[in-house]
Amino acid sequence: MLIQLISLFPNMFPPVLETSMLFKAKDKGIVEYRYIDLRQYGLGPRKQVDDMPYGGGDGMLLKVEPLTAAIEEAKQRDPEAITYYMSPRGERLKQVRSQAIADEGKGMIIVCGRYEGIDERVMTLIDRHVSIGDFVVTGGELPAMILIDSVVRLIPGVLGGEQSAEIESFSDGETLEFPQYTRPEEFRGMKVPEVLLSGNHAAIEQWRQENSLKAADN
Ligand code: SAH
Repeated sequence: MLIQLISLFPNMFPPVLETSMLFKAKDKGIVEYRYIDLRQYGLGPRKQVDDMPYGGGDGMLLKVEPLTAAIEEAKQRDPEAITYYMSPRGERLKQVRSQAIADEGKGMIIVCGRYEGIDERVMTLIDRHVSIGDFVVTGGELPAMILIDSVVRLIPGVLGGEQSAEIESFSDGETLEFPQYTRPEEFRGMKVPEVLLSGNHAAIEQWRQENSLKAADN
């Protein structure tokens, strides 16, 4: 899966995407990341990418021409790809959506906004609008990395135990993962629940189910 990121700050991506699981996915050839510097498509000698909004108001907007050029070039590289715009106005990201994107397996072109956002006319090139929650962050880069992380780990072959994604929080739409413990058995007087040490798989399974449901009630 080719993941193309269009951003004014492409340097933000490698520290996250080239680490741990996201790096392993790349190393195994399951995904490929391409960092596209919007500045390259800027206008004039100063490579201008932003401008003041018509009608007034504070802040700047990313201009339509550089974004259009960057998106069109990315689409040429991967004609089947789906184009995403990270936006607080978008559909709120959920596990089921990440799973659907991973299953679909199509390339992703992700546009990261900055400042007050982007010229509305860019939306004609956008297939899906994704929000990471009902709050505003400074740019689309962190939201894009959250989207990528949540999708890539669900692509078959990325996580070690295929089961580990299936039993996770939200994977069935509502329940949260049960509490887990590792050694030591006791730490500062806090003990691992007896049942987990029992070796009784049926009892452990039941305990886990009960404690998952409890999490869902919170
Ligand atoms: N003026 C805009 C916010 C701009 S924030 C508004 O009020 O809606 C700058 C950029 O950060 C946005 O263009 C978007 O790409 C990104 N962004 C901010 N919050 C986000 C969120 N919750 N989810 C996804 N992207 C977000």
